[in-house]
Amino acid sequence: MRYLASLIFALVLCLTAFCQTATPAPTVIRAGVLIDGKSDQPRRDQVIVIRGNRVESVSDAATAKIPAGAKIIDLSHATVLPGLIDCHTHIFLQGEDPAQGGYDANILKYPLALRAARATVAARRALEQGFTTLRDVETEGAGYGDIGIKMAIEGGYIPGPRLFVVTRAISTTGGYNLDGYAPELDMPKGAQMVDGPVEARKAAREQLDHGADWIKVYMTHRSWLGKDGELVSQPTLTVEELKAIVDEAHGWGKKVACHAYNGIGLQRALDGGCDSIEHGLQITDAQIAQMVKQGTWYCPTLAVYYHDWDAADTPNGKRDRKRASDHGESFQKALKAGVKIVFGTDMGGILWTEPIAQEFPRMTELSMSPMETIKSATSRAAEMLDMTGEIGVVAPGAYADIVAVPGDPLRDIHVLEHVTFVMKDGGVFKNAN
Ligand SMILES: [Zn+2]
Repeated sequence: MRYLASLIFALVLCLTAFCQTATPAPTVIRAGVLIDGKSDQPRRDQVIVIRGNRVESVSDAATAKIPAGAKIIDLSHATVLPGLIDCHTHIFLQGEDPAQGGYDANILKYPLALRAARATVAARRALEQGFTTLRDVETEGAGYGDIGIKMAIEGGYIPGPRLFVVTRAISTTGGYNLDGYAPELDMPKGAQMVDGPVEARKAAREQLDHGADWIKVYMTHRSWLGKDGELVSQPTLTVEELKAIVDEAHGWGKKVACHAYNGIGLQRALDGGCDSIEHGLQITDAQIAQMVKQGTWYCPTLAVYYHDWDAADTPNGKRDRKRASDHGESFQKALKAGVKIVFGTDMGGILWTEPIAQEFPRMTELSMSPMETIKSATSRAAEMLDMTGEIGVVAPGAYADIVAVPGDPLRDIHVLEHVTFVMKDGGVFKNAN
């Protein structure tokens, strides 16, 4: 008898659980204006039906069927967009202040637990600003910490965006911080150092084995002004070293992001088959043509190069100004030539207390249209991340990553700095409407 009772009890429990997963209570968002991330034009008065963590339907309010028992979220006075995507962040950096020891203190003085704790704050900051996905491009000496933070977010222990992580990143001897210590000291480095194609391939294998979603490679390191005032960057990996990494990553179905400022290192990045060029401060016409031909992505990260300039009359100050002006020209040439541009900021290089969306006006100032900048942070970024239709769009079948801003970003791009509503995976994280 007792056995039978517990069996029935278990069956009822089972059925209830089944019912809950089979038909989750739907959520309905009423959108005053919808910019869906993919279409060229916004649409007025839309109804978005969400079931579980996915968008079920998007339709005109006049004809929409509101499912019975739906929870209604009224964003009829707002502009609704897909969750935004930042393709270049560092949650393990905190805009290091030189007065507080700068970059080096992170590695030399801070326990990994402190760095991880601060990374959780960075992840939360991104999410509350409407960035529901980040491609986080290396931990700067915090090893595989990004994998741990990603697990904590996916496990629901902490709030944060979807993360695509690269783990340790790769450079060569003399090609990354920590720099400038006595040669007798065996200093830790902010990236994994390799020399030769064999070591390069091994590092890629290790990082992929431990869960890297992308591989990040530093193709240039130091930069300065040459004797004619031109920007010069120190190249790091050879084409052969990079090819070994790209070949390995592509075999795993993964891509390679290459930090490259200009010159020899940028050329090697393209010849070695990089999937995305990060920063690309000075890109020649021939290199732009090569990017178009190879389908190379460009993640410019403009805003960060307007931060922390040294005084105008110093060598570093002159270099800082030259970087920004060359960068603007390269961006405009790339835009004109049809290079695929994605939104990226280098947050972490910028304090996490600053608005991530400051990159949008930097792009529009260089003549990218507001709608194109939004696509660079939604559907186009999703395409680079091999997530087309899943993220970066408000359409049936996509994850319910949805944000809202008060006003029209196509008229005033700055409203993207004032996200009032954030939903990730169908769960409301922020609703200040
Ligand atoms: Zn970076």
